[in-house]
Amino acid sequence: MVRRLKSKEDTSAKNAVNIDVSKIVKGVIDDIKANGDAAVRQYSQQFDQWSPPSFKLSKQQIDEIIASVDPQTVADIREVQQNVRRFAQAQKDSLREFELEIQPGVFLGQKNNPIAKVGCYIPGGRYPLLASAHMTILTAKVAGVPHVIGCTPPSAGEMPAATIAAMHLAGADEIHILGGVQAIAAMAIGTESIPRVDFLAGPGNAFVAEAKRQMFGQCGIDLFAGPTEVLIVADEHADPYMCAVDLLSQCEHGPDTPAQLITNSEKVGQETLRCIDELLKVLPTAPVASVSWKAFGEVIIGDSMDEVYQIADDYASEHVQILTETPRDALKKMTNYGAIFLGKNTCVSYGDKCIGTNHVLPTRSASRYTGGLWVGKFLRTQTYQEVRNDEASGQLGRLCGRAARAEKFEGHARSGDLRAARLLGDQVEW
Ligand code: NAD
Repeated sequence: MVRRLKSKEDTSAKNAVNIDVSKIVKGVIDDIKANGDAAVRQYSQQFDQWSPPSFKLSKQQIDEIIASVDPQTVADIREVQQNVRRFAQAQKDSLREFELEIQPGVFLGQKNNPIAKVGCYIPGGRYPLLASAHMTILTAKVAGVPHVIGCTPPSAGEMPAATIAAMHLAGADEIHILGGVQAIAAMAIGTESIPRVDFLAGPGNAFVAEAKRQMFGQCGIDLFAGPTEVLIVADEHADPYMCAVDLLSQCEHGPDTPAQLITNSEKVGQETLRCIDELLKVLPTAPVASVSWKAFGEVIIGDSMDEVYQIADDYASEHVQILTETPRDALKKMTNYGAIFLGKNTCVSYGDKCIGTNHVLPTRSASRYTGGLWVGKFLRTQTYQEVRNDEASGQLGRLCGRAARAEKFEGHARSGDLRAARLLGDQVEW
């Protein structure tokens, strides 16, 4: 029988907040649609107290800002970007363009064309999330996107220098210091100073995620990558202290982080709870992490590892970490996750910051239908077809005529009839 050592709080109050988020976002988007840059500036001032002469950085500003960043930080950015680039390139190399002669003289092909203009959002409200620059801008560039615009909010009223360095080194063609809904709406709609993009990528808080959702259709979006989530699967061999540290590492993202420990061991569950209490007394980010853990933290005990994996899979969490003796079992037992981290030598923080896989991942159970951000999201897989053989085209014309008439499409049918008549001498009766 499944037991809960800790349940999450009743979150119905939070749902009420979500309704407000949707309303606020719609109001900002409507205003930016009507008033362009003037509205963008007004909301940047209102939400971020930020209204510089230009949101777009000049080449000279970028150079000066990068020169001010600690050289070790710049070297680390380059090293992490090398990992991200190599993995993204391997993903791109795995994609195939091909042409198939499906019957004599009938050629069908597939091409992967990069999207022309992409807007990448790099979060920065609470922390300067410079790793998101590698994940979004660099991945778009590896895919071959010719024009990438990056937007990131100011950092407590200042230029987010390290984030700007990461955006530039990732290959951004334009950098705007602009955050939240106003950045998403400006890129999706286009204003006097910000070009309209074809596609938006990147994570963000509830406002950013909702803005992307509402802009979908006006442009494409990568996925629903809202507030972070973490789930740990542990067996009786897991180290409770490690479970506690790794759960809290995600809870510090924001006050709305779902975090679950699911284990077959009551002892591991109890000990993890005790360690979390201790750690929250000393973690500098405890004021945020403790809010998340109290409201959204759960510790669940299953009778067997099969049951544990089943419960974990049903959550479809963004990040799943496996702390068991045989962690690769998870690859067979689970399919619902944004990314999975196998064994005690791997952790979600590696994925967030440096290992090289993409950290823009599906939240709110979206992993039931999509994986995370990757080069393929920046490519359009498009088909082409050519019939080089008259006999084949005539036969297809006859088939098309019959197939179209079965659907009552007389116009379509006549396109087929015409070719059957011209190429095979069929009598046309219209
Ligand atoms: P953010 O850049 O996403 O949001 C900051 C912006 O929110 C501000 O610039 C401001 O304009 C806007 N804002 C704040 N309060 C507002 C209000 N009341 N009304 C309208 N707009 C408002 O930065 P953040 O807040 O630090 O959030 C980053 C988020 O990204 C976190 O929730 C983190 O978990 C998430 N994240 C998700 C993934 C993923 O792949 N799913 C990856 C990394 C980060």
